[in-house]
Amino acid sequence: MELPFAESWKIKMVEPIRKSTREEREQWIKEAYYNVFQLKSEQVYIDLITDSGTGSMSDRQWAALMLGDESYAGASSFFNLKETIQKITGFEYVIPTHQGRAAENVLFSYLVKEGNVIPGNSHFDTTKGHIEARKAVALDCTIDDAKNTQLELPFKGNVDIKKLEDALQKYSDRIPFIIVTITNNTAGGQPVSMQNMKDVRALANKYNKPVLFDSARFAENAYFIKTREEGYQNKTIKEICLETFALADGMTMSAKKDGIVNMGGFIATRKEEWFEGAKGYCVQYEGYLTYGGMNGRDMNALAVGLDENTEFDNLETRIQQVAYLAQRLDEFGIPYQRPAGGHAIFVDAPKVLTHVPKEEFPAQTLTVELYLEAGIRGCEIGYLLADRDPITRENRFGGIDLLRLAIPRRVYTNNHMDVIAVALKNVFDRRETITRGVRIAWEAPIMRHFTVKLEKL
Ligand SMILES: *Cc1c(COP(=O)(O)O)cnc(C)c1O
Repeated sequence: MELPFAESWKIKMVEPIRKSTREEREQWIKEAYYNVFQLKSEQVYIDLITDSGTGSMSDRQWAALMLGDESYAGASSFFNLKETIQKITGFEYVIPTHQGRAAENVLFSYLVKEGNVIPGNSHFDTTKGHIEARKAVALDCTIDDAKNTQLELPFKGNVDIKKLEDALQKYSDRIPFIIVTITNNTAGGQPVSMQNMKDVRALANKYNKPVLFDSARFAENAYFIKTREEGYQNKTIKEICLETFALADGMTMSAKKDGIVNMGGFIATRKEEWFEGAKGYCVQYEGYLTYGGMNGRDMNALAVGLDENTEFDNLETRIQQVAYLAQRLDEFGIPYQRPAGGHAIFVDAPKVLTHVPKEEFPAQTLTVELYLEAGIRGCEIGYLLADRDPITRENRFGGIDLLRLAIPRRVYTNNHMDVIAVALKNVFDRRETITRGVRIAWEAPIMRHFTVKLEKL
């Protein structure tokens, strides 16, 4: 008999979590104005609001933390981190930052000018924010198939090469660089194939443009390339990472994802010009060049985290857990963005709550229902997050309306996945009785989902 699959680690330290009663949750969510961002973490049993900065560090990371060098300049921790990044990515120049958006802020302060157009595959919200704040345009060139949640494609995060070439022709000298997000977070943690990245590189060369990878989940992307793309089965994750980054001129990184630290980020590049141009902004916004917003101990822990998480076993444990949750949802017929992505399951809320009109925010309604059912905190990635159109001030109902269940790295067991699946099934089973959603009582002009106050209808 074939041995079943199990985690590639064992648990050395535990953190108790607490269940609550439905009555308690009814009260708490009401006090939070039906916005899960307003809940206290003690009011949550299983927290799937994000996989960012919520992972568990390993014993080696905790050990490295104790050896952190907190020297202001020239700390050994910085050189540890730089060497690891060079080894994994092949990029020579490294600028540490306090998180991913800070890396964007520093690099884009140098690269992005008013009137620019930056094509890419579903820019992450802070990436888009940093582009738009500089009066430039983030042009989405993701393949159209990414919007069809039920279509099974191995690389649903890909760039549409035709759309990209049209953009390069149309906007030519307004384009400072092309950005590729690996994995494509907004499309559901969907990977980008090596072939697609090669095609982007070829176009970039043809039009003489640099390529930047937004790399928060580059290791998960490499896992999908190894397991799904022809010709990569026998390569190691580290070999695939090197081959990936050989196709880019530089990267921005949120280390809170695939770096498995609670806080941190960096820029890495082979272009001396980018490094020279960005470094002044690092000093201005983040800190001196050998710490840039990070503690020495955190840079040490990140160096170990990057090394560990570019090993197959660690990634397999992670991706298999997300796939396990997906398989449980399949048993119950619950629709989600297919196939399961790297870091989360995105439940297709309008397909579940068919009676809740879009004006009453189906994905947010489902988020609240799942919390009430079992104290599980997901996150709406849908019509609330989409904000209003800046000109007409109408709600933007054009995109997809999803409940995201983000799985923190090395935190929960498959028993927790079972609880999540069954809680969702219980909501699914009574979906015909859920006919009303929520109404906005108060909202901020932008990024409203964090602070919005809602009323239950
Ligand atoms: C999280 C994330 C960012 C921003 O990083 P922070 O560390 O949250 O500032 C940028 N791009 C992608 C793809 C991300 O997932």
